[in-house]
Amino acid sequence: MSFRFACWIILTSIVLNTCSRPRQRQQNVIAIQPLGIVDAGLLQYLKTEITILHGIPVEVLPSQPLPAAAFEKERGRYRADLLLAYLEHCGQGKFEKIMGITAADIATTTQGRSSWGVMGLARLYAAPAVISSFRVQKKLRSVQQFRQRMLTLARHELGHTWGLSHCSSSFCLMRDAEGKMKLDSAGFFCKACTGLVSRL
Ligand SMILES: [Zn+2]
Ligand SMILES: [Zn+2]
Repeated sequence: MSFRFACWIILTSIVLNTCSRPRQRQQNVIAIQPLGIVDAGLLQYLKTEITILHGIPVEVLPSQPLPAAAFEKERGRYRADLLLAYLEHCGQGKFEKIMGITAADIATTTQGRSSWGVMGLARLYAAPAVISSFRVQKKLRSVQQFRQRMLTLARHELGHTWGLSHCSSSFCLMRDAEGKMKLDSAGFFCKACTGLVSRL
């Protein structure tokens, strides 16, 4: 076992041990898990809109602190992949999906870099997803625009958890942001994506 791999296991176990296991199952519920302080108006907006748009009950869970073990000191960012592991542990078996929301900057390893700042992260067919408002503030004109951007981001990550990869259609919600802020112009899933997932 390499030293790096051993460190990864230790770090992951520290993150997972900070959250207690769930007791009962609510498979047809999407849970929103605020990580740290998140605006209550935004949480309510996401809850209402996701319920209407996807026909699934949404529950906002009590806020949890961001796990210190996921913090990347050098960049002041949280490891999004470790946050997914944390969220999975908190929600596993209890909710269909568990979406973490944070105002902190989050990063993952991609594009040949070990720390690549992202707006959100989710794995295909997995329960957890995480979104961050840190990179969503660019040229904001109103609170409504901010909330709309966060909703688009949340639906994009939910799309991944329902099995959708990035879409080549330039107007689809599942298009790749390619490191840019493209949340103002993509408001719906294209026909091809809609045909693949009954939840859309
Ligand atoms: Zn994506
Ligand atoms: Zn599409």
